[in-house]
Amino acid sequence: MAITLNSPLTALPGIGPAVAEKLNKRHIHQVGDFLFLLPYKFQDRTAITPISDLVYGESAQVLVTVQSAKVQYGRQRMLVIECYDDSGFLTVRLFHFSKAQMRLFKPDVRVLLYGQAVEGQGRWAMMHPESKVLKSDENVQLSDKLTPIYPATLGVGSARISRWAAVALDCLANERISDFSDDFLQKHHLAPLKAALKAIHQPQVGQRESDILNPQNPHLKRVVLDELLAKQIGMLRKKARAKAADGFALQIDEHRQSALLKQLPFTLTNAQVRVITEIFADLILAKPMHRLVQGDVGSGKTLVAFSAVLQAVANGVQAVIMAPTEILSEQHYAQALKLLAPLDIAVVWLSGKTTAKKRRALLGQIAEGSAQVIIGTHALFQEEVIYHCLGLAVIDEQHRFGVHQRLLLKEKANHTGKTPHLLVMTATPIPRTLAMSHYADLDTSVIDELPPNRKPVATVLLADNRRAELIERIKALVAAGQQVYWVCPLIEESDMLQAQAAEDIHAQLAAALPMLNVGLLHGRQKSDEKAAIIAQFQANKIHLLVSTTVIEVGVDVPNATLMVIENAERFGLAQLHQLRGRVGRGAAKSYCVLLFQQPLSPTARQRLQVIRNSQDGFAIAQADLNIRGAGEILGTKQTGEMSLRIADLQRDSELLNMAYDLAQTLMTDNPRLADEIVARWVGDAEDYLEV
Ligand code: ADP
Ligand code: MG
Repeated sequence: MAITLNSPLTALPGIGPAVAEKLNKRHIHQVGDFLFLLPYKFQDRTAITPISDLVYGESAQVLVTVQSAKVQYGRQRMLVIECYDDSGFLTVRLFHFSKAQMRLFKPDVRVLLYGQAVEGQGRWAMMHPESKVLKSDENVQLSDKLTPIYPATLGVGSARISRWAAVALDCLANERISDFSDDFLQKHHLAPLKAALKAIHQPQVGQRESDILNPQNPHLKRVVLDELLAKQIGMLRKKARAKAADGFALQIDEHRQSALLKQLPFTLTNAQVRVITEIFADLILAKPMHRLVQGDVGSGKTLVAFSAVLQAVANGVQAVIMAPTEILSEQHYAQALKLLAPLDIAVVWLSGKTTAKKRRALLGQIAEGSAQVIIGTHALFQEEVIYHCLGLAVIDEQHRFGVHQRLLLKEKANHTGKTPHLLVMTATPIPRTLAMSHYADLDTSVIDELPPNRKPVATVLLADNRRAELIERIKALVAAGQQVYWVCPLIEESDMLQAQAAEDIHAQLAAALPMLNVGLLHGRQKSDEKAAIIAQFQANKIHLLVSTTVIEVGVDVPNATLMVIENAERFGLAQLHQLRGRVGRGAAKSYCVLLFQQPLSPTARQRLQVIRNSQDGFAIAQADLNIRGAGEILGTKQTGEMSLRIADLQRDSELLNMAYDLAQTLMTDNPRLADEIVARWVGDAEDYLEV
């Protein structure tokens, strides 16, 4: 049977189940998928370059005769082959070579080489060129096209991928591939997809690699746009599906809302008022809310969440507030006891330290509905937690509410036939490009204003060898009644090492500051131990708190005015900003000291300067994105998220805008094309988008 773009991989020569499985991991499931795996460089094997015409730094194919080959012993063993052609001499150096290779390079044999021309000891040289020793009567086969080089992966080599891609291109020549109208393509200076793919995989002789791979190349742009569109359309569909579900139409109880606000010693910021209005507008609809609230550290997200929770309760449905850590969930519980309980609302806290007996009682209350607001960690979605009628879930400080968790949430309300409202809150500002691509399925609100009287935190960079000065400073500060956080170096590899580092630093500081009460907080302590320490810090019984990043989110102690971060160069910018947000919450001027280890690399210095010079979470996140790339900001733990294969959010931000604008129109005007675009990029991965 003839091979087509839709044929299974195993229809291709050399692909059995094992190789197919490896390719699947690279989004390649059928023959046509090779079209969307692009070469990352090209070799020009269409001609032979005389040695005298070589250009420094450029790759070329040369045909030479071996003069001598010998092994040189120096710092590193090396096979040195002296060669020549009619126009000059060339030295080839191989650092890795076999006995067989040594025997091949005999004087007078002809060798075809492809490699980058460099200079060594006054003559041309190539390090590790690709080489082919010719038989005495063999003619050189010149290629009639540029040779594309594909990214090899998982043990599947570039040369094999190249052969399969060529088959896919042959199929493409005979098959139809859906595309925009000619008018549209012309108007937007884009190439037709078919031509674009051919031009990138098999560029014409004489084209420069840098031009082919230039992001402004209309061929490349067309392919990138296609991918971004597929992603965008997938997101919009996911959003539409989510919206099509039945939800709880809540009536806004203005009376109870003002009762909540009356208890506060302050008034809401305009931004808080606006975001609450946006949330209420979602809650009154008989469709589930899917809203992301972004607000910098300290912008007052808790109250916004409580406003929504209050409305759920006022309408007789339950609300959960899920926090990423036990500590944070306890703080929410304390706040809820202060602000919600006085309004006759039954608030419960499901904690890891709840005794089995108490827990059974709580689970009973949750199941029968007498518990109205339930606060906890991920445990809230455990199987044994059965809700009477769950109407709202607030997820705090989560970068992304995963697909899996969304499913669980839906399941928790299955018996009601409705999907609970979802409110996700994050202090990690999401730059526009990311918001448009990865979060396009959520509606977003931004609390873009801090409560008045917040003072910026003065931030200084300090070399680690000046700790003594810092210690003196801490003495004075504590004498004046203030408190200090001391954050330990980040050790991502191991919780255990991290805890150990914290213990060491705690011991050092306790010895250096014997008159102070120095506390210690890390992730390996039991949760009641942690809670007790935080309570002591809150009560100013602990003056200096040595901590790992467990305090990153949520801990609120306004009397702490100095935050020291050790080995600050190891942290991400967004994380430093979050940590710094723990101070500057009270009336007194606050400081953040970023201790760094010398020598500091230029990039590390540049990153720390971003933090020193800016208090704006959004600007910092954008800088972070530029320096570290999107993956880091999204977090590595997200499984099931579709990643981008060709597009690059930074480089292709213009096309991203275009895809964003275009996706909706396309779905309305040309749903078939929209379908096909999604199908060719997402294929069987669309399951992920079903949720
Ligand atoms: P985050 O957005 O970081 O979660 P929180 O909700 O914890 O911020 O609020 C931080 C602090 O600011 C809390 O002590 C809270 O009581 C206070 N706060 C919240 N809103 C206001 C406001 N409008 N005016 C003054 N203080 C506020
Ligand atoms: Mg918060």
